[in-house]
Amino acid sequence: MKKTQTHRIPTALWTEFQASVIALDDNPGRRELLALILEWIRKSPKIFDAEPFASYGLGNFAKLHEDEMPVEHSAFVMDDVKHFKETVSRYDARKSDSIARFIRDTLEDLITIEVDRQCPNCRSDFMLAFTGRQKMSLAFVCKICGHSHYSDGSPIVADTLDYASTEYLRQAGLIQ
Ligand SMILES: [Zn+2]
Repeated sequence: MKKTQTHRIPTALWTEFQASVIALDDNPGRRELLALILEWIRKSPKIFDAEPFASYGLGNFAKLHEDEMPVEHSAFVMDDVKHFKETVSRYDARKSDSIARFIRDTLEDLITIEVDRQCPNCRSDFMLAFTGRQKMSLAFVCKICGHSHYSDGSPIVADTLDYASTEYLRQAGLIQ
């Protein structure tokens, strides 16, 4: 299939989001920030299921059960809020790919916990916790290089990774 047009975020949709982010308190809770982004995505399903958002899986976040996610334990630290607000205000709607990637990364940080595991590939000290859909096992993904494996060290082959729920992580003993 030939790509004949450049995909762009509708300017009105982006400026509306920018305004709601700028209006945020300087110190919002992580749940508040997550709710704001999800509300924005859920309002325009057709847009987020299409490019450039589809490549980053943004449409899928509309189906997220955020109440079940470990937001209070997540990799997103409150210092990130300032960076988030600055980045959102700076991006022009034409930077659609950068926006899609940044929103995806922020959502991922908000709902995923960092585990004290060294990446065998790049030696980064932390990995993010996921669950394998086929193997029903805890899996770790390196945020720096993308390397992933199951918690027992075995490689992930032909499996889909899901974000690990609070309940799952609690049972695995990773959060209290
Ligand atoms: Zn790595």
